[in-house]
Amino acid sequence: MFTVTNLCKNISFSRYVVVQARLKSKTHWAKLKKKTSSKYKAMNHFDDFYGSVFGDKWEPMKEALLRRNKYVAVVNNYGEAEETVESLTNRGAHCLNKLTVIQQEFYNQYPTKQTDASTQQSNRNNKLHEFTTKLQTEEISNLYDQREAPDRLDLPDVSLNYSSEEKPTQLVDKKFNNNRTKDQSKQSSDIDQSRIIDPSMGLSSEALYQYIPATKLKGMDDWIPESLHYSFYSKSTDFPLVIEPETEFKFPEHLKVYTYEMGSEWNMFPEPKRCTTGVYNYYPMDCGSVLSVLAMCLAPGDRLLDMCSAPGGKALVALQTLLPDIVVCNDLSISRTNRQHRIFRDYLCDFNTNNRWRERVMFTNVDGRLFTDDQGYDKVLVDVPCTTDRHSVIEDENNIFRPDRIKERLRLPELQAQLLTNALRLVRVGGAVVYSTCSLSPIQNDGVVHMALKAAFQDHSIVAVVKDLTASFSGLSSTLQLGAGDIAPQYGQLVVPTVDANFGPSYIARLVRVK
Ligand code: SAM
Repeated sequence: MFTVTNLCKNISFSRYVVVQARLKSKTHWAKLKKKTSSKYKAMNHFDDFYGSVFGDKWEPMKEALLRRNKYVAVVNNYGEAEETVESLTNRGAHCLNKLTVIQQEFYNQYPTKQTDASTQQSNRNNKLHEFTTKLQTEEISNLYDQREAPDRLDLPDVSLNYSSEEKPTQLVDKKFNNNRTKDQSKQSSDIDQSRIIDPSMGLSSEALYQYIPATKLKGMDDWIPESLHYSFYSKSTDFPLVIEPETEFKFPEHLKVYTYEMGSEWNMFPEPKRCTTGVYNYYPMDCGSVLSVLAMCLAPGDRLLDMCSAPGGKALVALQTLLPDIVVCNDLSISRTNRQHRIFRDYLCDFNTNNRWRERVMFTNVDGRLFTDDQGYDKVLVDVPCTTDRHSVIEDENNIFRPDRIKERLRLPELQAQLLTNALRLVRVGGAVVYSTCSLSPIQNDGVVHMALKAAFQDHSIVAVVKDLTASFSGLSSTLQLGAGDIAPQYGQLVVPTVDANFGPSYIARLVRVK
């Protein structure tokens, strides 16, 4: 019966239903959005990979990555440096150079016991191998009907050498059909070339080796097994591989870096201020990035190439040492180079007007893989594009884990190795190349160094030795955490983010060309 009360009831009920439905759908979409966001994908990948490789050391790193990161202040020598130092000291910040001297003395008195590096390396290789095998097993059970699931797909064994042509054909089955047996599937299989990394540019099939997991791809036309990438982690040393301690390391006299004590998260630097000359008084930077510049061991009069330079933080720190004569800042991206111009104008007095700068600092926009120069360089910095782990887990914008950047992400180790190989060609004999990333990935770090040393030797007869920076960087242990024990890389140093010293991740390897 129609009554006003019934009408009200009906209206309120239907409003309730609509509101409920809206709320539900909102929750649903919000959840879905979260789950498909790039940073969510990035964290899933890292949880899987780093959780397997770093074990229980991954959780504390992850906690740090999700918190606010820490900065150091690089004093601008082209501003009023003395006043800046005074104001930073008054705020309770410490001079990094002095801290390293004190810590180094302590280290010399009480050297830490070194654990057996080869055992650690072999443990790490085993973990990578186990991880690859786990992925292969997952892929098999995802792809094949359980009743006919083979024990193992014919995925490459990490210890085997094979050509790029043979194995992938056995892996990628575009016409995959669940009703067919593994052998039937394999017979009609062919390669989706768009997902295969091109092993050209003088790099062998190992150019494919990387650990960068692709999202589990359901469209079989577009399928590549994730494990393929891990499988290319090479252990073979069919090239001269020498690792020796660095003995020339010295903190640059004029470089003034200020930091707060470990653990003092509340101590933040104020915004940089303009000096009377118009430039800013200091540059805020991740301490891990400063290490790439320190690792170059710059000397007076050096000719420096910064191969992937923009937006220019590390080149700016190199100039703050007052050591190099010439700095060539190269970057493929013109827009990022324009940003670098603006930063240099903000920090280097009369940058646009004084010819002195034009003679010392040059900008180029060449693909670093193809960069040539007849004169050669004393130092080359190769700060490569990478998975930028911290950025990837906190920001969706410009995230390398975005689905439309999958190929770019999968090709990173190949690009990184090609850039490093070319850097080894550009540095003069006796000069040094520093390779750096802001990733924890053993594939983008040690893996790429290994691959580039091999390519440089096999394709260009270039020999470079790896300089062990452990003792050089030991003075930094009161400021930041370097990967030690079973998470220490073999060739470089790894700045590991921790809640107390929330810098990094940064990986830094120093290679000196000897032939
Ligand atoms: N070194 C910079 C700094 O300290 O501010 C950061 C460099 S960022 C990690 C990597 C840079 O590599 C990006 O600016 C990117 O544009 C550049 N890049 C990417 N591919 C390149 C290539 N093939 N050749 C040269 N630069 C490249």
